[in-house]
Amino acid sequence: WPQTPKEFFAFAKSNNVEQVDLKFVDMLGTWQHCSYPIYDLDEGIFEGGFGFDGSSIRGWQAINASDMLAVPEVSTARLDPFHARPTVSLIANIVDPITKENYSRDPRWIARKGIAYMKQTGIADTCFVGPEPEFFIFDDIRFSSSQRGSMYEIDSSEAAWNSSRTEGGANLGHKIGYKAGYFPVAPGDTLGDVRADMVAEMVKLGIVVEAHHHEVATAGQCEIDMKFTDLLTMADQFLWFKYCIKNVAKRHGKTVTFMPKPIYGDNGSGMHTHMSFWKDGKPLMAGDGYAGMSELGLHAIGGILKHGRSLLAFSAPTVNSYHRLVPGYEAPVTLAMSQRNRSAACRIPMYSPSPKAKRVEFRCPDPAANGYLSFTALMMAMLDGIQNKIDPGEPLDRDIYEMTEEELSHTNVACKSLTEALEALEQDHAYLLKGDVFTSDLIENWVKWKRENEIDPVRLRPHPYEFDLYYNC
Ligand code: GLN
Ligand code: MG
Ligand code: MG
Ligand code: MG
Repeated sequence: WPQTPKEFFAFAKSNNVEQVDLKFVDMLGTWQHCSYPIYDLDEGIFEGGFGFDGSSIRGWQAINASDMLAVPEVSTARLDPFHARPTVSLIANIVDPITKENYSRDPRWIARKGIAYMKQTGIADTCFVGPEPEFFIFDDIRFSSSQRGSMYEIDSSEAAWNSSRTEGGANLGHKIGYKAGYFPVAPGDTLGDVRADMVAEMVKLGIVVEAHHHEVATAGQCEIDMKFTDLLTMADQFLWFKYCIKNVAKRHGKTVTFMPKPIYGDNGSGMHTHMSFWKDGKPLMAGDGYAGMSELGLHAIGGILKHGRSLLAFSAPTVNSYHRLVPGYEAPVTLAMSQRNRSAACRIPMYSPSPKAKRVEFRCPDPAANGYLSFTALMMAMLDGIQNKIDPGEPLDRDIYEMTEEELSHTNVACKSLTEALEALEQDHAYLLKGDVFTSDLIENWVKWKRENEIDPVRLRPHPYEFDLYYNC
């Protein structure tokens, strides 16, 4: 890929590119874009950027200071496969047009500051991130006549599955059973070719994909795993990942959701996030402590567990996220560590004896998260744990779902709602403010946005289940 403005225009020319598609991430973690015919552009775009109206982007500028600049980073150039005409894509940083300062609410700036802070502490020079996003592929009802109504009506509970199988109706011989999506071959898994197409587009973009498979939930839940890479590359890549998945799904007459819990009674979609620190080309997480972790690694886990409730405000950032974080669906409910236990928030994978593979898996995040904010907050919690030598406590190697209330009361239980997570963030965020990585403005704005635009609107609407409970009261 081109690394200099000059190389960029040569690259564009040799690929007959007609337009530049400029992309940037908004506060909540979705890409915004604007396209520019390339014939009138020159190398100045990498200095001067492109102007846009910041007041129209969710959670950003007030209308009286709305002019902003999106300044592209040349190393992010990729041919965008989802335009009909040849198009090169660039990811931009957000800058104030007058002061030329980076915009404090640009999530990508927060990730860049986070990496600079990590280096400045001297603890590590690289933070590798490996997320495992899960998602649901549904038939798009605009293309399909067999699936009428909305996805809210899908009931993939065990009872529904059994009755559909035993009480007549269509031949469901190949239908995946309740919570049995992990990993039957075709024709049970009907989505292998769709995922392979998604992966093919990712590979063209330079994303290294390790595996793809159907996930546990019955109704089309899938996972595609990218190989770990450094935090900023991964945060950028995660948006390419979502973009590829949604656009390839559309080609197949399907639609994808990354919402954490679309279906009641079946597994939700997580984005377990594997984290490790390196310095001078050497891994820092492996040692002779619990589960083969180093002291540094265990302290990093101590940091995650200590700040876990506050971290949820960025890593499980929707009202819907808390329908996922409940017992019984392989999602974590308890802020503890364990080498194998999938019901603990921090798992230390034991697949490989290599020190290079030693890492911690934080299982709370879901794919609705803004990767720039979620990965950076997690890294900051780990750095805080290392700086303050925070003890992660006793490992929890038993099945947490089987523990009694009394036993569980001794562990630090994760939040039950976004409301609780935002309160935790308000009370516990000094670790995020270090090095001015996160700012009070960003945190206050985040909490306010979430309360006003997500928590309250849901609270104000009668829930469908209330009719079950109360209609005949
Ligand atoms: N879907 C589960 C979750 O919500 C994870 C399942 C798995 O990957 N083992 O975290
Ligand atoms: Mg996985
Ligand atoms: Mg999985
Ligand atoms: Mg995992």
